[in-house]
Amino acid sequence: MRFDVIVIGAGPIGLCCAIEAKKNNLSYLIIDKGCLVNSLYNYPKNMTFFSTSDKLEIGEIPFISHNAKPTKSEALEYYRRVASSWELNMNLYEEVIDIKKGDEFEVKTNKSNYFARKIILSTGFYDLPYKLNVEGEDLPKVKHYYDEPHPYFGMNVAVVGAANSAVDVALETYRKGAQEVTMIVREPSISESVKYWVKPDVENRIKEGSIKSYFNSNITKITEDSIHVKTPDGEITIDNDFVLAMTGYQPDFSFLKKIGIKIGDDEHNTPVHNDETMMTNVEGIYLAGVICGGLKTNKWFIENSRDHAEIIVSDILKK
Ligand SMILES: Cc1cc2nc3c(=O)[nH]c(=O)nc-3n(C[C@H](O)[C@H](O)[C@H](O)COP(=O)(O)OP(=O)(O)OC[C@H]3O[C@@H](n4cnc5c(N)ncnc54)[C@H](O)[C@@H]3O)c2cc1C
Repeated sequence: MRFDVIVIGAGPIGLCCAIEAKKNNLSYLIIDKGCLVNSLYNYPKNMTFFSTSDKLEIGEIPFISHNAKPTKSEALEYYRRVASSWELNMNLYEEVIDIKKGDEFEVKTNKSNYFARKIILSTGFYDLPYKLNVEGEDLPKVKHYYDEPHPYFGMNVAVVGAANSAVDVALETYRKGAQEVTMIVREPSISESVKYWVKPDVENRIKEGSIKSYFNSNITKITEDSIHVKTPDGEITIDNDFVLAMTGYQPDFSFLKKIGIKIGDDEHNTPVHNDETMMTNVEGIYLAGVICGGLKTNKWFIENSRDHAEIIVSDILKK
């Protein structure tokens, strides 16, 4: 129950940190509240990564995929292989509830207590969706995660948002037989950040009317069979069976604050940490992976945050 390092989060970057700790003979434990690479497991079934497989490699294990950009199932297979090849020590389906700092850290989970000299937090941002905060959002027809298009065949679907996830969902449900797909977009246009090979596709489907769209518009109310939308031309009501709210996700700031990590007052609420060591304002707690960007969830990816593992473990060894 005592370790040099406890890594919280068995995402790609948490695994990378554990491998680095193992390579340097530090005792370690990974704890994740879900399955191995839980966030990836919850991505849409038919998704393809925008990174090529070599950019997703960790622990010097080659990632070979059928095409240059791997699918979700290839990525799951790959990270399973990484975890078993390195024989990583991990407790899955165990949630970290609190961390108390004394002479060493006491990590409380929903199952047990552990002690560690250092903590690496690689908890990502995929657990907390941005809410629409409108009446009817609690209805079962409102989804903040999308899996596959089949349930929406023959249905009137509203997709909220205009970034990559929303665009992928609108195109896929349209192509797989949804009766009507309507995009409700707060901004005046499809996001500039949408993958350059996908953006013209959605824009042309909107132009030809295959996918309906309301820009500069917001849902104001959801009922069993309709949505109310505030548009620049006034409030309208649309027949609706499902609302797919692809409005993005955010890190669990309340957990960070609870364990003493300060949240920056910059526009992205970046959790306070030293870029050169990745250590937070709490001596001995490090951040790794996408959580480092706060609300700027497109700053860090797997491919550019793999390096965090080496930076952190070399700082731990120095200290
Ligand atoms: C649809 C989609 C497509 C993407 N495509 C790409 C791509 O092509 N290339 C790329 O580089 N990046 C891509 N990304 C971003 C990529 O998913 C993230 O970069 C990656 O998952 C980040 O890894 P991570 O280890 O930092 O966090 P995550 O993978 O999110 O891992 C965090 C882990 O922490 C666990 N956790 C959280 N809180 C607790 C707690 N209290 N106790 C225990 N465990 C906890 C979670 O269960 C989770 O397993 C994509 C993201 C999305 C949403």
